[in-house]
Amino acid sequence: MIGETISSIATALVVGGGIGGMATAISLAERGVRVDLIDLDPEWRVYGAGITITGPTLRAYRQLGLLEAIKQQGAITSRTRVFRYDGTHILDLEEPAIEEGLPATGGIMRPVLHHIMQRRVAELAVPVRLGLTVTALENRDDGVDVQFSDGTAGRYDLVVGADSIASRVRALAFPHMGPAQPTGQGCWRISIAKPPGLDAGEFFLGHANPAGITACAPDKVYLWMLTPHVERERHMDEDELFAALQELLRDFGGNAGWIRDTMTRDDWINYRPLAAVLQPRDWFAGRIVLVGDAVHATTPHLASGAGMAVESGIVLAEELARTADVHEGLRAYQERRYNRCRDVIETSVAVGRLQLANGDPNVHAAMLQDALHRLNDPF
Ligand SMILES: Cc1cc2nc3c(=O)[nH]c(=O)nc-3n(C[C@H](O)[C@H](O)[C@H](O)COP(=O)(O)OP(=O)(O)OC[C@H]3O[C@@H](n4cnc5c(N)ncnc54)[C@H](O)[C@@H]3O)c2cc1C
Repeated sequence: MIGETISSIATALVVGGGIGGMATAISLAERGVRVDLIDLDPEWRVYGAGITITGPTLRAYRQLGLLEAIKQQGAITSRTRVFRYDGTHILDLEEPAIEEGLPATGGIMRPVLHHIMQRRVAELAVPVRLGLTVTALENRDDGVDVQFSDGTAGRYDLVVGADSIASRVRALAFPHMGPAQPTGQGCWRISIAKPPGLDAGEFFLGHANPAGITACAPDKVYLWMLTPHVERERHMDEDELFAALQELLRDFGGNAGWIRDTMTRDDWINYRPLAAVLQPRDWFAGRIVLVGDAVHATTPHLASGAGMAVESGIVLAEELARTADVHEGLRAYQERRYNRCRDVIETSVAVGRLQLANGDPNVHAAMLQDALHRLNDPF
């Protein structure tokens, strides 16, 4: 759904071409802003994981006009089956769609999702420069002077920092903000062929290390597992990751057990320690503003970090379109996003703490379900 044209700015630089940066670039360009997009990665890649796309995230993607492509190239489901970790079926969670015509939930491979978003960025003729970042940002009354890492310079009416959890834009322009805080957990993921017969999302509970499986394509899934994070002197190599994940899955049955017994060293495996932070307001300084993990980084417990990034990009453009005063638009964006992002981050971190303390899984489940229900509210 495309709203009014934006009159308060004519040009914008989006720093970071990930999920939040592309959602912002698309939303601004659709409202008539001339957007430049830059990304540090010379090849504009994304790593090979799958990603869970909840109902609210699908709703945001529908607003960007990308729902059909996600439905065609990802996997859509309407329920989650809950198992004891050994594979004993406990119950099915029916997940009704939150709106007419919207699938309930789903998953997609991250590279496929990026490609869908990249294609829309190209259709809107947004120039993309790669292997590039910003080295200096100077707020002026009527714009921002930008120095790029290749020695070039530019001036924009607005600069959007969408450069993720270790944001360079945040470090340059937001001295009242700090780094994300480690939560003490880490997330294991493996992308692998779909277990035969899997027809829904799956959770494996009742173990110190909760796990789950999300379908991402007709023939692909990813399995995730959350464990306490253990500091190591060096990163594990691929053989060590493989052996460690297989061992972590030792007690698991059902499709999690199938994955343990079927996985090979060719399957993509990743371990990442988790960190989160809700940055203090203001989320804008002059004409520089932050979206996505740069300002509201969360853990995967609610599978909503990407959804929050997409929503923030849409809301930023919507609020800028509502007023002729850029600062009024930026403040309205911040106020519309703050409590919703806070809810996601606080709930995710609290569930992680409970898991680390071996808390009652029924309490986890209730916290997650309540928060997911709240996220169904319009954003
Ligand atoms: C283990 C794990 C699992 C997750 N699973 C889910 C899930 O299932 N569902 C979900 O909704 N969310 C999930 N998330 C969260 C989700 O991945 C993020 O919230 C989302 O990607 C944030 O989007 P972003 O655009 O802010 O950052 P990113 O998607 O990380 O994109 C940032 C971009 O900025 C670029 N960049 C970085 N630094 C610079 C710089 N200095 N200059 C220029 N460019 C730069 C990068 O190359 C990248 O392209 C998960 C997160 C983790 C850690």
